[in-house]
Amino acid sequence: MNQKNHWKKCWSWRNKKSFVLGRLAERKESIMEKKADVVIVGTGVAGLFSALNLPDDKEIIMITKSDAESSDSFLAQGGICVLRDENDYDSYFEDTMKAGHYENRKESVDIMIRSSREIIEDLVGYGVEFEQRDGEFAYTREGAHSRPRILFHADITGKEITSKLLERVREKHNITIYEYTTMTDIIEENGSCAGITVKTKDGENAEIYAEYTILASGGIGGLYQHSTNFPHLTGDALEIAKKHQIRLEHLDYVQIHPTTLYSEKPGRRFLISESVRGEGAVLYNKNMERFVNELLPRDVVTKAIREQMEKDGTDFVWLSMAPIEKDTILNHFPNIYQHCLEEGYDVTKECIPVVPAQHYFMGGIWVDKNSHTSMPQLFAVGETSCNGVHGANRLASNSLLESLVFAKRAANLIKEEGCLEKEQAV
Ligand SMILES: Cc1cc2nc3c(=O)[nH]c(=O)nc-3n(C[C@H](O)[C@H](O)[C@H](O)COP(=O)(O)OP(=O)(O)OC[C@H]3O[C@@H](n4cnc5c(N)ncnc54)[C@H](O)[C@@H]3O)c2cc1C
Repeated sequence: MNQKNHWKKCWSWRNKKSFVLGRLAERKESIMEKKADVVIVGTGVAGLFSALNLPDDKEIIMITKSDAESSDSFLAQGGICVLRDENDYDSYFEDTMKAGHYENRKESVDIMIRSSREIIEDLVGYGVEFEQRDGEFAYTREGAHSRPRILFHADITGKEITSKLLERVREKHNITIYEYTTMTDIIEENGSCAGITVKTKDGENAEIYAEYTILASGGIGGLYQHSTNFPHLTGDALEIAKKHQIRLEHLDYVQIHPTTLYSEKPGRRFLISESVRGEGAVLYNKNMERFVNELLPRDVVTKAIREQMEKDGTDFVWLSMAPIEKDTILNHFPNIYQHCLEEGYDVTKECIPVVPAQHYFMGGIWVDKNSHTSMPQLFAVGETSCNGVHGANRLASNSLLESLVFAKRAANLIKEEGCLEKEQAV
């Protein structure tokens, strides 16, 4: 009998009491071999939201390569898009498609936009707070958005969302998080995914068998010298998927963010959010002349900066926040203000040097509209997946939303277990 069937059989004869006692005992054991209904790789927004949307009677194991807080989701600054009202649908759809060079999967874009209000309601229900004015949500704007439709929490929106989701997950008795535990492979049995193999905190190899596996392991920035991402995000799920002939898509669609703070120090590049330009900041060449419309899509602004740097023979261009009121800088961008100050720049008084750096991965493990991969029992959500929302280039602040929408869809499909075979055919 294979391990998965063995687990199914064990599950069926266990009564509730022995199951609970068994679980308590298991928690004290080493992780050498574990069993769960669902194993989720990654504790960013995609992993956490999948977990929260699964039923409480599912035994869920989450693993993360680092500590649970070290995910790119915590770093998101600008905000999260939402459909403000029905009148904005066409414009939001067009902005997303145009930024993506019309290579986006239209169905996925439609699903994301239509689900956005529900997702925001979910987040608010989990305790997430967004900036308000006069008792209403306040919306900001970023590059390539034709109108303000981005909700934010100062310039630490990702931290606000992810920390609240993590708090809710930690309250759940059916979810166990193993930190410093790295997925090294998936367990393939008869062409289906039966779980994962991991390297534990203590350096031991272990197996986690599960009915369903959700890969939520983020982007690939760790593979680059200059990136805004955490260095431990090295596209591990993609390598593993390739090894198992799981379908991948658009591996060459990598987004370079136009504005990160120039530094000669090694390590992660500090992002200067697009919403700074959305609020009026401008780019200057070495002669303090503007050379590009700052609100064009990321890839276009990046190209213009690179060309300008080459022309000027410089390693950076200048970003000036002078057009933004000091109060707005201090209230909307306190984190950016503080970080730049620590690096020796007072953004309320002087320009800062900025340079493009790797930021986001639009390609990934191909998934259908319910985040199901080409392998039975295996899902992929968040930045490691490619559901086609972003096409060839992501529109600012669409990533948190896309991750949440499609994480919830994965969880919903797992809830209706019988649907899996039908959905796979998409
Ligand atoms: C600086 C910055 C600012 C951003 N600002 C915005 C913004 O304003 N709005 C927006 O929409 N998007 C923004 N983004 C993009 C967005 O934050 C990410 O795309 C999104 O958070 C990805 O979520 P995720 O859950 O897929 O991955 P992540 O949050 O990156 O989480 C990945 C998880 O996988 C784990 N992991 C990786 N490999 C393994 C492995 N082998 N084994 C076990 N665990 C593993 C990691 O430890 C981590 O827990 C920003 C990104 C950055 C870097």
